Amino acid sequence: MIVEMRTGASREEIDDVVLKAKSLDLDVQLNLGTDKTVVALLGSNTGQIPTDVFAVLPGVENVTRIMKPYKLASREFRHRNTVVDCGGVKIGGEKVVVIAGPCAVENEKQLMLAAEGVKKAGATILRGGAFKPRTSPFSFQGLQKKGLELLAMAREQFGMPVVTEVVNPQDVRLVSNFADMLQIGSRNMQNFALLTDAGKSGRPVVLKRGFSCTITEWLTAADYLLAEGNNQVILCERGIRTFEDSIRFSLDISAIPVLKRNSHLPVIVDPSHAAGHYALVPAIAKAAIAAGADGLLIEVHPNPKEALVDGLQSLSISDFIRLMEELRTVAASVGRRL
Ligand code: PEP
Ligand code: MN
Repeated sequence: MIVEMRTGASREEIDDVVLKAKSLDLDVQLNLGTDKTVVALLGSNTGQIPTDVFAVLPGVENVTRIMKPYKLASREFRHRNTVVDCGGVKIGGEKVVVIAGPCAVENEKQLMLAAEGVKKAGATILRGGAFKPRTSPFSFQGLQKKGLELLAMAREQFGMPVVTEVVNPQDVRLVSNFADMLQIGSRNMQNFALLTDAGKSGRPVVLKRGFSCTITEWLTAADYLLAEGNNQVILCERGIRTFEDSIRFSLDISAIPVLKRNSHLPVIVDPSHAAGHYALVPAIAKAAIAAGADGLLIEVHPNPKEALVDGLQSLSISDFIRLMEELRTVAASVGRRL
């Protein structure tokens, strides 16, 4: 931690910072300038000490962390890439994994047609929302348990593992009984009670980025899952809120190389929720693979015009087949396979 003193801070004010640091068992390195002093505080526990402890002291201008607040998700903690196993499908290895399916499970026919179509096109994991985190309480909330049963049926019929969102801590056990992998949605990225329970579930977890959260906050949230002894965590970039309003969310493409540098966890990208429109999905999906993503999470509907949720951003089966062809070429160009 670096404590920068105000210009002209008194010797007593500097000494108070040093005393406080010593009381917290930190090593102190003083850099006394002619009119500005900088105090470096070192110690293995600096990550646990709030910066406010020093920021409140008289004469302190600014306090900056040099240690990252996240630990278990960091590359320092684990140098080698983590590979996640979702029902036998490996995410984070050489192969790029495509997870596809409808935003919401609507009925048996819709889900089976979607599963059949995405499987034929080469997707290896089926997605479908049974519990939907809707912005309005009056919107369709999902088929819930019935939706989970349909997902399990699709898994049996098509031999594909399934991923579905869990919205509440009290549903973690139920969803874990049906799904191969849990999804924690953007709106719940910092629902710490949910993260803890999902971490305990024993299921792999896809943690989507909160659309107003930094990468550091995201990795720190991942620590909640990892702290429960669950190392099967995948990060999913799905777009963030910016001033740009011509798309639904701005996909942060740079998050991919930043995460790859700073974390050992696999990174996938959801181009659908970022795009908000089916016509924009292919370009974003291809960019993600080119930038090093380990997989994609794509919304596909057998009849997007009739979709109950997110029809505009859903690809039809034929659009998805075409995109998969293009993705194969992009993956090969960066030394990956689909
Ligand atoms: C979803 O994947 O269906 C979803 C709701 O995504 P997000 O949490 O990213 O909005
Ligand atoms: Mn959706």
